[in-house]
Amino acid sequence: MAYVIAEPCIGTKDTACIDACPVDCIHPKKDAPNFGDHNQIYIDPVECIDCGACVPVCPVSAIFALDDLPEKWNSFTAINAAYFGK
Ligand code: SF4
Repeated sequence: MAYVIAEPCIGTKDTACIDACPVDCIHPKKDAPNFGDHNQIYIDPVECIDCGACVPVCPVSAIFALDDLPEKWNSFTAINAAYFGK
């Protein structure tokens, strides 16, 4: 299981989650050259250790444990994984 960043991130990209993540598995970072190329940020489903630290810091409640992901945002599981080629 992993955590997933869903639709509310689009257009927000707050990045507080990136600072909260203890294993540095949320990308792209604000200073990454490709940050502007993406309308949201993503969680690496393999590197995520399911700690939940990113959830409360998100101002738009965009992050969900896979089990809690609203069905309407199911496609975001693959969208997050695809960024990392997974
Ligand atoms: Fe990082 Fe923990 Fe959030 Fe996974 S659940 S993305 S490890 S902060």
